Formats: sequence, structure tokens, C-alpha cells
Amino acid sequence: MRDAFGRAARLWVGCPGCGAFLEREVLRRRLGVCEICGHHFPLEPRERARFIFDAASFVPREVRLRSADPLRFASGGYAEELDRLDRESVIYGTAAVLGAPCVVVLMDFGAFGGSLGVVAGELFCRACEEAAAERVPLLAFTSSGGARMQEGTPALLQMAKTLAALESTAGRRPGYVALLCHPTCGGVTASFATAADVILAEPGALICFSGPRVVEQTTGIRLPEGFSRAEEHLERGLVDMVVPRGRQREVLGGLLAYLGGGRSRRGLKAPLIPESE
Ligand SMILES: [Zn+2]
Repeated sequence: MRDAFGRAARLWVGCPGCGAFLEREVLRRRLGVCEICGHHFPLEPRERARFIFDAASFVPREVRLRSADPLRFASGGYAEELDRLDRESVIYGTAAVLGAPCVVVLMDFGAFGGSLGVVAGELFCRACEEAAAERVPLLAFTSSGGARMQEGTPALLQMAKTLAALESTAGRRPGYVALLCHPTCGGVTASFATAADVILAEPGALICFSGPRVVEQTTGIRLPEGFSRAEEHLERGLVDMVVPRGRQREVLGGLLAYLGGGRSRRGLKAPLIPESE
């Protein structure tokens, strides 16, 4: 019986948006978007790279850096977890979208909840420097629970460090686009995620400093439906555009070509707002 349940869970997944059971393979082909209600399931960085970037254009940088575990965070077994995962919450590299080149940062929520630690911060800064050296726009897909508490103050300092890297390279980089994915929280929201020239978000993405449950518990106030979601931030002006996954490639391609001065490996100048808008 347990086997049957396990097999069903591998093949089917419940949608948090509408409660329907969706076939995983169909969901994968639909870029992780529920065909009934449009709920956007979280995506792994490699899955996202597969549908956003031009074929074989994404070249991740292989950087072997490991956190020094400055707090000796023994109680949570942080050092063991670093060994077990053997990857960081930030991946960066070069890529192209509809022919427009960029340096891209992808956050991996599966690695320490996408948290911003010393190594993740350093990788983001290197991406800024590479975008400046290559004179191409920077593109970041954020998904994070916030600063990495296992690293304490050095993790919090990454907020200042990443913003300083953006500032010091601003004159040499032709723009920075951030696409905020569910969830983007804490120190990442309070630093580089919301410091972009153009801030896009996925439908329904939670974008906040403290999560709604924490705010409710602290204030004793029942928060309204949709609190701190992408659509509310669009209404209030933090987010410039909420872009469904099926349109992200064309919107990002247009933006990157525009920011890059029409530079494109195909020699095309993509429109800023796609004609199907
Ligand atoms: Zn659904």
C-alpha cells in the first residue's frame, strides 16, 4: 500500500492553487505552471535555464568555494550539510536570451533555502564584475528565504557587499534586470533583488522581508489575502511587471536587447515590449 502511495506521489502532484492533481510529466512540459489555475510551481535553476536561455548558450562558472563556517554552527550540522549538498545557493554564468547576451545569476532554493551566505554573496559580486567586463546586462532570478543564519553577521554583511558590487560596476554594466520568483524574502529582498533597474516577478510570488505568518504572529493582525504577493507589489510600485512563465523568454529577450543597446548575437534588435502584448 505504501509503495502504491509512493508511486502515485512520484507521478502526480497536488496543486496548492486549486487542489487539482496534476501529472508531473505534463506539469514539467508546461514549465511548472498548473493548466487549471495558472499556479507557478517552484523551478530548479537548471529547469529554468532550459526554457529561458537559447539552446546551449548557458555556460555556468565552475567556482569551488566553500563557506568557512565562521560560527562553528555545530548544533545544526552546518559543515556536514555543506559537504552533503556540495553546491551553493547561487549559480552564475553567461547566457543569451533570444540572441541577447547577459551574465546571469540563478538562485537555488533547494540549497539552504536559497539563503545568502558568504559564498553566495561572493558569487553574485563576481557576476557583477563579469557583466561589467563583458559589457553585457546582468540578469538575476531570485528565490531565497533570506540571509543564512548559520553564518550570522558575515551573512548579513553580504547585503552591503552585493549592493556595493552593483554600485561599483553600475557605470560599466548596461543595466540589471531581476526576476523575483517564489519566495524572495529577507536579506535578498532587502538587497540585490530589489536594487535592479527593472524588477519583474512571477505570478503569485511571495516577496517580503518577513513572511506573512511572522507578521501576523508579531502584530496579532489578520493580514489580507494576497499580502506581499507579486501582484500587490505591482500595484504599489515595487515591481514593474508580473510576467507569467510562458512569456518570460520574450520579455527578457526584449529587455536585455534594449539594455544592451540592441546587441545581439543574431544581430537583431528585439522589441522592448513584444508585439503580442
Ligand atoms: Zn492549480
